[in-house]
Amino acid sequence: MAVLIFALPVPFTSFTKFNTMADNKKFDVIIIGGSYAGLSAAMALGRSMRNVFLIDSGNPCNKQTPHSHNFITHDGEKPAVIAQKAKEQVLSYPTVTYMSDFAVSGMKTDGGFEIKTQAGIKLTAKKLIFATGVKDIMPDIKGFAECWGISVIHCPYCHGYEYRGKRTGIMANGDKAFHVASLVNNLTDQLIVLTNGKADFKEEQFHKLKRHTIEIIETPVAEIEHENGQLKNVILNNGNKLEFDAVYAAIPFRQHSDIPVNLDCELTETGHIKVDPFQKTTVPGVYACGDNSGPMRSVAYAVAMGNLAGAMANMELTAEEF
Ligand SMILES: Cc1cc2nc3c(=O)[nH]c(=O)nc-3n(C[C@H](O)[C@H](O)[C@H](O)COP(=O)(O)OP(=O)(O)OC[C@H]3O[C@@H](n4cnc5c(N)ncnc54)[C@H](O)[C@@H]3O)c2cc1C
Repeated sequence: MAVLIFALPVPFTSFTKFNTMADNKKFDVIIIGGSYAGLSAAMALGRSMRNVFLIDSGNPCNKQTPHSHNFITHDGEKPAVIAQKAKEQVLSYPTVTYMSDFAVSGMKTDGGFEIKTQAGIKLTAKKLIFATGVKDIMPDIKGFAECWGISVIHCPYCHGYEYRGKRTGIMANGDKAFHVASLVNNLTDQLIVLTNGKADFKEEQFHKLKRHTIEIIETPVAEIEHENGQLKNVILNNGNKLEFDAVYAAIPFRQHSDIPVNLDCELTETGHIKVDPFQKTTVPGVYACGDNSGPMRSVAYAVAMGNLAGAMANMELTAEEF
């Protein structure tokens, strides 16, 4: 049976024994982030009998979403149920150790890496996999954060079908708004784009939006009225109220963990960790997978990237040892 350790809720003194054990042992791989991408990487490595240490702080980006869609075998399931089932399966592999903790720093060592955690634990490994996800930055609009993932949504594939035929807003501007409008137009004919300021569309985009009778409203959004996260009205700065069932929103994000950048991993222009087609970052021996390294945010894609990162880390270890 794999080892399961909960570091966050208990006092540091409880870890003395474990701390000594971890200090003395060099793991094959430390995975930071134990949601869909991290667990998927751990499965590939556990099945290869690699000694893996998985650290997770339990804060996945989709935690407020009542139902996760578009991942076959789990369509419509609660996000935490998918993660729990994955965790149970991964921890049935005896070489996988899981700890509930937060990795605070990392550095290169001779032949590997060292990670320190919030609970004061020090771990070393030959390879690192970052599956740390991203943190969405909520705009300063009353009610927005409470509706995020429930009726203020980020992706037509994840939640669009559930709001088909409904009164739908798109809170975005320019190419992003145009792209979402073109996708969502197939799901509902009650579409309004809320540009939150002067509309920024190319002439051709304006024509297409008009042709599909998609209204554009430039007045900034002041507030979102809701009931337990279910949108009722969008209130504009001029006091006008618009009834909506759902609003798509494109919001900025930042990396959940700054350790990759502190280790010199390069970021892309969009703020993702730069990886090659095998999930290798620009730092040898360091991999990244899931939302932190790609714009396609979905459970299926995070699982696929994690699986690849795990397999590639195993292949690199094999090449070094065999
Ligand atoms: C509101 C919302 C709704 C969504 N709905 C759907 C949907 O219906 N269907 C779908 O397919 N996709 C959906 N997605 C996208 C999907 O949730 C993500 O693509 C997926 O969660 C990415 O998985 P991940 O493992 O990369 O990151 P996450 O699931 O975000 O997990 C990252 C994990 O790393 C941990 N972590 C970060 N830093 C550290 C650290 N330093 N130390 C320890 N642990 C750390 C975090 O606590 C977290 O547990 C949704 C996303 C959002 C934001």
